[in-house]
Amino acid sequence: MKLYTVEVNNQQYVAAENRNKKLVTLDSMGIKVKDMNELIVRYDELRDGIGKALAVNENAGMEAGEYRIKAPIPVPWQDVICLGVNYRAHIEETVDVLDFTKKADTVYFSKRVNTANDPDGMIPVYDFVDSLDYEAELGVILKKDALNITVEEAAAYIFGYTIINDVSARNLQFKHQQWYRGKSLDGYTPMGPCIVTADEIRNAHDLAISCYVNDEKRQESNTGYMITTVEEAIAELSQGMTLKSGTIIATGTPGGVGMGMKPPVFLKKKDVVKCEIEGIGSLVNTVG
Ligand code: MG
Repeated sequence: MKLYTVEVNNQQYVAAENRNKKLVTLDSMGIKVKDMNELIVRYDELRDGIGKALAVNENAGMEAGEYRIKAPIPVPWQDVICLGVNYRAHIEETVDVLDFTKKADTVYFSKRVNTANDPDGMIPVYDFVDSLDYEAELGVILKKDALNITVEEAAAYIFGYTIINDVSARNLQFKHQQWYRGKSLDGYTPMGPCIVTADEIRNAHDLAISCYVNDEKRQESNTGYMITTVEEAIAELSQGMTLKSGTIIATGTPGGVGMGMKPPVFLKKKDVVKCEIEGIGSLVNTVG
């Protein structure tokens, strides 16, 4: 199932895509949820009902122009957990800045997301950021609390997948040594356009992932090149730390970021950044 958060007449609704690729709000099918976070928590209970309602409504749905697509989880319950340097090519391109070539363990860090940016939202420009960069990443959302689970058990905890652009202010990342501030500015987490539920992603580690800046291809890889897999990350993070339902994990970016170019090339006003993942869709954000 492809699940969206949409805005209709200034009101937000959770919507699902029917067989004719039209979006139908759960509300209009008599399924009441406050937002995507509530749907995530109640998904196992509501899934069959949504499936049946979509079949009944296969000729219904909104026309383009009647709604705006928002980030699927506009207000995450917690910071997004991020994996750093999780693709070999990204480790190699950033070796001049920080040498992670000999790292043995996964790098985890956190990203504040008060409000996720829309899949077509403007990436804001701040006068104290001189090195704005993009990072196309596969986002993973958990549907139930995970504590002390194994790699083999992890799949059962995954609600679905989305695209995240882990927008980064490189100068702030390095100025403060920890990456938190440089990753967390308002507007730095474009997300979406939808969540594809886990049952519809045959293999989360075999998805084409790419990023374009003004139609120039900058990143082109496959999620199969992740060093730490989604399941390994969930299992490891869950040791001694409960990963709550609704947790969002950004799984790292492939090679090709602006910081890794020789010389580095950073985003500037009016640049259009498109992050794409096979089977999920794309984010198209303009730097404003
Ligand atoms: Mg990242």
